[in-house]
Amino acid sequence: MFQNTLEYAKKQDANDPLASFRNKFHIPKDTKGNELVYLCGNSLGLQPKITSEYISESLTDWANLGVDGHTEAKHPWLPYHEFLTENMAKIVGAKPSEVVVMNTLTTNLHLMMVSFFQPTKTKYKIVVESDAFPSDKYAVESQLKFHGIDPKQGLIQWAPREDEDLCRFEDLEEIMKNQGDEIALLMIGSTNYYTGQSFPLKKITELGHKYGCMVGFDLAHGAGNIQPNLHDSGADFAVWCSYKYLNSGPGSLGGCFVHERHANNKELNRFAGWWGHNKKTRFNMRKDFDALPGAEGWQLSNPPILSMAAIRASLDTFAEAGFENLLKKSEKLTGYLEFLLDEMQNDAIRVITPRNPEERGCQLSIQVKNADKQLFTKLTEAGVISDWREPDVIRIAPAPLYNNFEDVYKFSEKLKKVLKK
Ligand SMILES: *Cc1c(COP(=O)(O)O)cnc(C)c1O
Repeated sequence: MFQNTLEYAKKQDANDPLASFRNKFHIPKDTKGNELVYLCGNSLGLQPKITSEYISESLTDWANLGVDGHTEAKHPWLPYHEFLTENMAKIVGAKPSEVVVMNTLTTNLHLMMVSFFQPTKTKYKIVVESDAFPSDKYAVESQLKFHGIDPKQGLIQWAPREDEDLCRFEDLEEIMKNQGDEIALLMIGSTNYYTGQSFPLKKITELGHKYGCMVGFDLAHGAGNIQPNLHDSGADFAVWCSYKYLNSGPGSLGGCFVHERHANNKELNRFAGWWGHNKKTRFNMRKDFDALPGAEGWQLSNPPILSMAAIRASLDTFAEAGFENLLKKSEKLTGYLEFLLDEMQNDAIRVITPRNPEERGCQLSIQVKNADKQLFTKLTEAGVISDWREPDVIRIAPAPLYNNFEDVYKFSEKLKKVLKK
């Protein structure tokens, strides 16, 4: 179906209804002013051109209104997070009441574990996928220690079999069969940052619930990349960041999902702050904590509006393109990348990401034989912005909002050249 020529790639771009969205982004350039082949949206998404307008609006309101901007700004600051909720909820497949933008990913992960990891003497273990992102692992281990549990006993890793790269669902079933009674929480990355493998969220949630466990997901590599259908998955909670596929700028605020079954759950522990308090009495200042129903009730502080402005700009861009359309393009674009890599028939490289589009997002992880980071350095010199992960993987993520078929074709040509040297 695909063809290995520049003409073909250009023709795909010409026929792509979303092609014009590339123009809505700042594409990084080399010193001579040529656009780089940017395939690193899994690490830091590119900047929409409208972002500076959205931030300027808030800066201008602050300059002109001072404190009155809380209520009088064009987009008032007091309810600013609410302007993000609906579009963010669509992206993760949740009801608006289940989603809030706040804090950053690791902070939210801790807050969620405070609520959803309440170990007992006999049910106290946490399952993560092996090779979880370091921050997630540190967070989980420190939560275990906080409850007086030795991570060596309390942390269970769902790992690929020897000589395999990907986690098998049957092996998670086996873990649950053997230790389900002792497991309190399953905390899984929806899409693994290293292999690019996307896990079946609903199946995992049903499995966890069958054994009376809480189930949460880290969507750092899922949000804006796959449709996780969080509500239907039944997951208890999820967290994600907005600076990867959600293009909201370095260190921008994260998102948090709490399933509606917990909207008013008073059994849960919670670290509270005034922004999670009933909006009607928040400024009375003297009332006992009265949690807002739903995800909003987990907010702590009044949020950074400039960061939220960047998220609003990004979400408006997603909404304009239509997430469904983006996912369709993404499957094709990554399929094209896979095709071109296969065409190379080069034993020095191997794609470890699942072949089945349902088990991955846009990223392909390419394992390099003999772990030669030089290959990555040479690619960078050739104008490709990608990402190297020790010990031996290059991650390539064509983002359907701003990457095109020509990017993917150029990448494959450059990789071919570099491999020949
Ligand atoms: C990117 C990423 C993080 C980063 O966490 P921050 O708190 O936003 O710094 C954490 N976990 C995973 C899986 C990630 O991919």
